[in-house]
Amino acid sequence: MQIGKYKLKTVISGFLSLDGGAMFGIIPKALWEKTNPADELNRVTLSTRNLLLVCADKKILIDTGMGNKWDEKSQTIYKIDQAVNLESELLKHGLKLEDITDVLLTHLHFDHTGGSTKLENGKLVPAFPNAKYLVQKKNFEWAMNPSERDKGSYIKDNFEPLIKEGVLNLVDGEIDFDENISFKVINGHTFSQQMIKISDSSNTLLYCCDLMPFVSQIRIPYIMGYDLQPLITVQEKKKYLKFAADENWHLYFGHDPNYALATVKHSGKGIVQDKTFKDFE
Ligand SMILES: [Zn+2]
Repeated sequence: MQIGKYKLKTVISGFLSLDGGAMFGIIPKALWEKTNPADELNRVTLSTRNLLLVCADKKILIDTGMGNKWDEKSQTIYKIDQAVNLESELLKHGLKLEDITDVLLTHLHFDHTGGSTKLENGKLVPAFPNAKYLVQKKNFEWAMNPSERDKGSYIKDNFEPLIKEGVLNLVDGEIDFDENISFKVINGHTFSQQMIKISDSSNTLLYCCDLMPFVSQIRIPYIMGYDLQPLITVQEKKKYLKFAADENWHLYFGHDPNYALATVKHSGKGIVQDKTFKDFE
């Protein structure tokens, strides 16, 4: 898909598994397991599907997945599949880590910024040596001092080295990154997560990140138990799903193991899923 000056490409940096109950909040398993089957430990599969934007002078990566710094215990808990990784996936598009010019981080949860740093000679360094990283200032501040409830989701090794090296740029609020890319701030899942909107005069794609991890979560009450402010998530889903249905946006899903994209439409039952796509054609 081409939007404005950018060619859009899917990059799957890995897979993990999380508790199905936590992923679907108040929704009974009898309903969610129809679309997201659970394993023997009640876990459902998530992809970490990042997005690559390529133009003549920029190679932009949105989110960096889980990374490769996990110990064996965590690999077992989260069923991390180390066979897939960002470096080899980027190579499929003819790119090396050095080629990335900008890393847009939606938020600093470990499954979105795990690949931002790597261990080199016993020291944590930025994984993309020539990139400028961007995240919302308020999300960074929360990540440095999270609550006892959500501190397990913020692992400082994934972002503190970026600040120390002076490559993490803190964005304050909704801005236009350039003529095709803008940031949309949401606060239901965590504080100051930024969705990435890519648009030109005829097409719009929204990188939904953790507003809706799975296509099955287009339905309004399908909200994660992890969300800090679920009623804010309800408002945010309604707002952006209406834009998407009215203006025929493509929604990009970071965690759906099967589908990269979906469109939505108005129906007698409100806004519902329309078409799904496994990848850009
Ligand atoms: Zn998250």
